[in-house]
Amino acid sequence: MKSKSTKILSAFLILLFLSCSYLMLQAQSKRVVGKRLRKVVIDAGHGGRDPGCHGQYSYEKDIALDVSKILGNLLRKNMDGLRVLYTRDYDWYPALKERHKIANDAKADLFVSIHINSSPKRVTTANGTETYVLGLHRNDQKEGAIGEYAENFAQDGGLLNPQDPMTQILIAQYSQTFLASSILLGTFIENEFKNQGRKSMGVKQKGLEVLAGSAMPAVLVELGFLNNPSEEAMLNSPQGKLNCANAIYKAISKYKKEVEKGTAIQSAN
Ligand SMILES: [Zn+2]
Repeated sequence: MKSKSTKILSAFLILLFLSCSYLMLQAQSKRVVGKRLRKVVIDAGHGGRDPGCHGQYSYEKDIALDVSKILGNLLRKNMDGLRVLYTRDYDWYPALKERHKIANDAKADLFVSIHINSSPKRVTTANGTETYVLGLHRNDQKEGAIGEYAENFAQDGGLLNPQDPMTQILIAQYSQTFLASSILLGTFIENEFKNQGRKSMGVKQKGLEVLAGSAMPAVLVELGFLNNPSEEAMLNSPQGKLNCANAIYKAISKYKKEVEKGTAIQSAN
């Protein structure tokens, strides 16, 4: 049987461990807020052998690439110091794993994937935009990606060390804050589409591989329905493409301000 003093000592040590853990978490959360948005990865969906969905005369992969490039140019031209990277800038198919790897290796702060919707019917009247953020059932994979790229987060404190019992808690914390940041950006994107008079189907959660593997906030934007003839015409017009890119560009500039205020956490480095 343990003596009374041993019990008191154990209780004291547990309390000390919990207080230290709490203080470390507090320090880490302070460290990750109020950063800057420095690198954005734009991912044009599909490409090459994978055309994505199609309308009467056009393919998703081509529209996604055009809008991605317009968005990249808007960001480069108007946001000083922001680096824009593409997962593809011509018609080829990088595997989904390669797409996250580009973003994770670059230690990007944000991942934006551009797609176009279609519905099961050949021709539809369905229309409007929607933005996906990661569904909770894929959270393990997101945490895995954050763990795998732990060195991205270890620059100013080295707290994300796999040997450290705090690491799992911190990884979970990052994953939750990335989701909250993704929802914030998604909401801004959908609001910008609404401001343009488009129908918004809102921000939704889905277990998408391309969002799960990136160790940073990530959204996937569906720009409209390609099998709706009027949306196909809009998505193929230079003005339609510019409007889509502009909505996402404006949303990213609002999001950047939130990141600088510390409201959104884009990455830990
Ligand atoms: Zn797609």
